[in-house]
Amino acid sequence: MNFNELNLEPRLLQGIVDRGYKEMTAVQEQTLDVTLQGLDVAVQSQTGTGKTAAFLITLFEHIIRNSTYKRKKALIIVPTRELAVQIEKEAHLLNHHIGLSIGSFFGGVGYAGQLASLKKGTDIVIGTPGRLLDLSQKGHLKLENFGFLVIDEADRLFDMGFLADITSIIRKMPPRHARQNMLFSATLNRVSRKIAIEHMKRPVFIEVTPEKLTVDTITQELYHVKSHVKMNLMLGILKAKSPHNALIFTNMRHSAFRLSKNLQQNGFRSQHLTGDLPQNRRLNIIKDFMAGKFAFLVATDVAARGLHIDDLEMVINYDIPQDCENYVHRIGRTARAGKSGKAISFASEGTANHLEAIESFIGMKIPVQIAEDNLFATDNSIRSDFRKKFRNDRSEKGRTKSHSKNFHRRKNPDRARQYAV
Ligand code: ADP
Ligand code: MG
Repeated sequence: MNFNELNLEPRLLQGIVDRGYKEMTAVQEQTLDVTLQGLDVAVQSQTGTGKTAAFLITLFEHIIRNSTYKRKKALIIVPTRELAVQIEKEAHLLNHHIGLSIGSFFGGVGYAGQLASLKKGTDIVIGTPGRLLDLSQKGHLKLENFGFLVIDEADRLFDMGFLADITSIIRKMPPRHARQNMLFSATLNRVSRKIAIEHMKRPVFIEVTPEKLTVDTITQELYHVKSHVKMNLMLGILKAKSPHNALIFTNMRHSAFRLSKNLQQNGFRSQHLTGDLPQNRRLNIIKDFMAGKFAFLVATDVAARGLHIDDLEMVINYDIPQDCENYVHRIGRTARAGKSGKAISFASEGTANHLEAIESFIGMKIPVQIAEDNLFATDNSIRSDFRKKFRNDRSEKGRTKSHSKNFHRRKNPDRARQYAV
């Protein structure tokens, strides 16, 4: 998902664009979804996944836009001066069109510069626990004015023995319900979780686990099938295996739309999820899908990226993806949390050539299944389509015959088998 879909304050969005960010990382997407609503989060995500921008964007948006904590100050606690400097740099870049005042505060350097900056009134204060507490105890840093608390690299902070300092700092701030609280870490240990629960208001716990290259618990299957009988094969597989839900991927928007309609015409409860749908609608579709309101979701990669769809029984690659990482990403939606899952792929004329790169990327050959004749089911959507076409074509002499031939071929599973390869 792109940052411009978030409806951010225009000056902030411009800063993000200038910074060169377009697509959100997974952790940014999941975090911002929660924090832009003003809720608290405790986020676990690997190093290098973009956690800094996730909290900085939240802070900028709330401080400059109408929100509960508009114009309140933000405190970011970090374990080291290097990290403080790095975050300050990133903040200045995003702040380019906004003009908030930002400063970093850490030990080992004189007070003069830091005091001068505090006197002017710093909107975003980034610092290490010792120096922050010191400045607060000397009356230079008025923690009661802060509406935001960010604890970055929480585990490292607590491993380094800063728990007591951090608790003292938090106690000087307004009560937890009067601030927005965010905690970030590469791992979330017991102390970090405890702090999140005790000092934050019902934080949403977000864990972004890296996509493993292939998941052992996923059974992968590959069918070579001519594209004009792919639908028959998919219907047959859905009927034979009757999964309670499945996520079906196509490479193009229009095929996702069409496939979902065809599934409906064949009596399967399905919806499509494509990038042209508004974000709200997409989120609602996912919610309904995960709640079991319908069983089959047909999606494109762009629409599904970063969205939280998992715990699926089956993933079907109706089209083999062009990008090998997308293959891993797609099939990784099934077999979560130790459960087993199935990933079925259809290789056809247009997409079979993507296989080589995928198989070398995942380091294995996807086991090939032969589709027996009885696995091809009748496609009932053809009949209604054909009727419509037939009506339109009657005026165009000579074309009816070829349609009629096609109709039989696609409708009749016995005839269809000849085209399976
Ligand atoms: P973390 O705090 O999770 O370890 P950082 O916030 O330091 O990760 O980000 C890691 C790198 O990714 C930085 O170089 C940052 O500029 C870059 N980055 C962050 N978000 C994006 C994005 N949406 N698109 C491209 N690069 C990004
Ligand atoms: Mg970080």
